[in-house]
Amino acid sequence: MSTIGFIGLGNMGGGMAANLAKAGHKVIAFDLSGEALARAGAAGCHPVSDAAQAGREADVVVTMLPAGKHVASVYNETVFGAARPGALLIDCSTIDVDTAREVASAAKARGLEAVDAPVSGGIAAANGGTLTFMVGGSADAFARAEPILADMGKAVIHAGDNGAGQAAKICNNMLLGATMAATCETFMLAKKLGLDLQTFYDISSKASGQSWSMTSYCPVPGVGPASPADNGYAGGFAAALMLKDMRLALEAAKASGARVPMGERAEAIYAAFVEADAQGLDFSAIITALE
Ligand code: NAD
Repeated sequence: MSTIGFIGLGNMGGGMAANLAKAGHKVIAFDLSGEALARAGAAGCHPVSDAAQAGREADVVVTMLPAGKHVASVYNETVFGAARPGALLIDCSTIDVDTAREVASAAKARGLEAVDAPVSGGIAAANGGTLTFMVGGSADAFARAEPILADMGKAVIHAGDNGAGQAAKICNNMLLGATMAATCETFMLAKKLGLDLQTFYDISSKASGQSWSMTSYCPVPGVGPASPADNGYAGGFAAALMLKDMRLALEAAKASGARVPMGERAEAIYAAFVEADAQGLDFSAIITALE
């Protein structure tokens, strides 16, 4: 069992840190929020009052922070100075590929190993220990990270060198965002054409238009398996987080010269929805804007 410093105990990190503690690791937990710290303490972690403490005592540091700027500042201003020689640094946040690579090379320059390990799966998967991790880093670093990540997830996949985990994550989510937008507008067209939506689901879910957005996360209430649509679009994966990921994908497309016209259109749809939505609804709720 390892001593793990865990920084960022929010919606995702709280459950992940709790699962590491449950697996028998000593988890030294830090967050800026006192409430999050108290929850981590109740879940078997050891809350501390500064990030350096979480870094200083740990063999492994895990971060689960909102965005690239938080990750860069936590590592550059605290973790790099505090970490033990040879410590393994695992960032599970969803951030831009460039920041992930910069953090990894800054770590290497200090004799530390780093991987980017963003996740697929939402808050329920974080709490239930069923996340999928896509990992960017050397083969050695992956071998060290894998058993730790396995205590928080159901699948741990080596995507390639540093940054490859983030690249896989934003490519996947750009595809998810675009297929959800297309699924929503297709159901609305089917409705206008007089089709019964359950009947259309029964046909399309077995035909070539099928996708995860349709058959695992149908945006129409009462159609397909249980999804946020059946709960007033509460919970699930917030449209604002999808917009964040779409924007990361567009930034990466621009930087790499990839042409992504469908991705651009889908980003505009989520941007308009998020601007008008005060409730933080699930990303499949964009169907309500098409009604
Ligand atoms: P969150 O806002 O609930 O949690 C982030 C936590 O980080 C907060 O508790 C905040 O206080 C803490 N924090 C911020 N700056 C800090 C600092 N300098 N030091 C210590 N703590 C700090 O966000 P979340 O939903 O847990 O998401 C975390 C990451 O996971 C994001 O990158 C997000 O894109 C990604 N993600 C989220 C989901 C989801 O469904 N929520 C799914 C997949 C991936």
